[in-house]
Amino acid sequence: MRNKLVVGNWKMHGSRPANAELLAGILAARPYAAEVAVCVPFPYLGETAAALAASDIRWGAQDCSAHEQGAYTGEVSAAMLAEWGCRYAIVGHSERRAYHAEGDALVADKARAALANGLTPIVCVGETLAERDAGRTEEVVARQLAAAIDKLGERVAEIVVAYEPVWAIGTGRTATPAQAQQVHRLLRAQLRAASGLGDRVRILYGGSVKPDNAAELFGQPDIDGGLIGGASLKAADFVAICRAAG
Ligand code: PEP
Repeated sequence: MRNKLVVGNWKMHGSRPANAELLAGILAARPYAAEVAVCVPFPYLGETAAALAASDIRWGAQDCSAHEQGAYTGEVSAAMLAEWGCRYAIVGHSERRAYHAEGDALVADKARAALANGLTPIVCVGETLAERDAGRTEEVVARQLAAAIDKLGERVAEIVVAYEPVWAIGTGRTATPAQAQQVHRLLRAQLRAASGLGDRVRILYGGSVKPDNAAELFGQPDIDGGLIGGASLKAADFVAICRAAG
């Protein structure tokens, strides 16, 4: 049985006072039946760790370097994230694939670096609107996941996958529960074929999840929770989504 997971992706939003208020709101609404986590900008990791350390809410980052250490100006290693108590690192978010030209192999290397340092990578996959319209959704997400499977081998059972159709991220346009479930079912089959433990992997849906559509999405058999962008920035909305998961 997979327990549900809801992860807030703050992206490049926040300020120290706004974060304190948001975290206080999330903490005040405990307990949650689902596992809850927030992935925050790097500079806020210390304060987030301090605010959440005594709770069961987990935290993480939105990226990590594929390298262990060295002359990689601007990068942050998975080992550094582990020092701040991170549980999760998002890798391969579509915004990083699009704006930083991150390809499947690099994303897989980042996932491997995260695992090697005790973090759980949240590996994002998803098709663009043009790819969906061309009937290429299955091929694209299968290729993206295969890169992680090839690199990680049996350890793929330790990752979290996030299916995030690019056309649904930040657009207000959500995949229908049936559309999302169809892709999740395929990803699940691919994970099962790759690992005897593939059934354990949680597959999150992301893309304009809101309090009013979360329950139906999370009710699908292969949707194990959500990766939440915009709606994770308002405590009331994020709390409602976390409650819809459990
Ligand atoms: C995301 O950034 O991962 C995301 C799903 O964003 P939003 O919920 O705003 O669509």
